[in-house]
Amino acid sequence: MNVILMGLPGAGKGTQGERIVEEFGIPHISTGDMFRAAIREQTEMGLLAKSYMDQGLLVPDEVVIGIVKERLNKPDCEQGFMLDGFPRTLAQAESLDTMLLQLGRQIDHVINIDVDRSLLLERLTGRRICKSCGATYHVVFNPTKEEGVCDKCSGELYQREDDNEATVATRLDVNIEQSAPILTYYKDKGLLRNINGQQDINVVFGDVAKVLRGQA
Ligand SMILES: [Zn+2]
Repeated sequence: MNVILMGLPGAGKGTQGERIVEEFGIPHISTGDMFRAAIREQTEMGLLAKSYMDQGLLVPDEVVIGIVKERLNKPDCEQGFMLDGFPRTLAQAESLDTMLLQLGRQIDHVINIDVDRSLLLERLTGRRICKSCGATYHVVFNPTKEEGVCDKCSGELYQREDDNEATVATRLDVNIEQSAPILTYYKDKGLLRNINGQQDINVVFGDVAKVLRGQA
């Protein structure tokens, strides 16, 4: 079973990804991990990628695809895989299809954990961190007993600069813009499954699992 997992920041993609790996026993392949491993193992593509990165250049698509190909050829991917954070562009999606065709494989499901932008903003901007002990809270989903005060050490809570509304909104909009053509590409191929990510985590996973088992 070959799966692509998609979802905006705050949609719960990380949690659902872990559950998919646990339940279906396929490896979780994230772009970051894949790159680090290829460079560490000094694969042909890993070395090529490193030469671009060392010069502060963007790694070209053909090298990115090469790294994905090396990874998907490993034995643990024989029964399937879950791609996370890839493809990032339409060109990468098309190259992935060509590469899989050469390997005699194909993508079976594209799971998109779908959450309204307004709720994502609420999720992402509500995080608060304790200045003293570093404990993390959420004003809505995991609030402290007393507003602004850490439950564990009575320290003062603060909001990280990255979590302020303007920064989060920009990050979301960039992601929405980047993922739109990829979602359309897979929708046109009949592979895209939008899962309502605004439900309880377990209900969301139930919906994901139904799709992956071909029951929905
Ligand atoms: Zn604290």
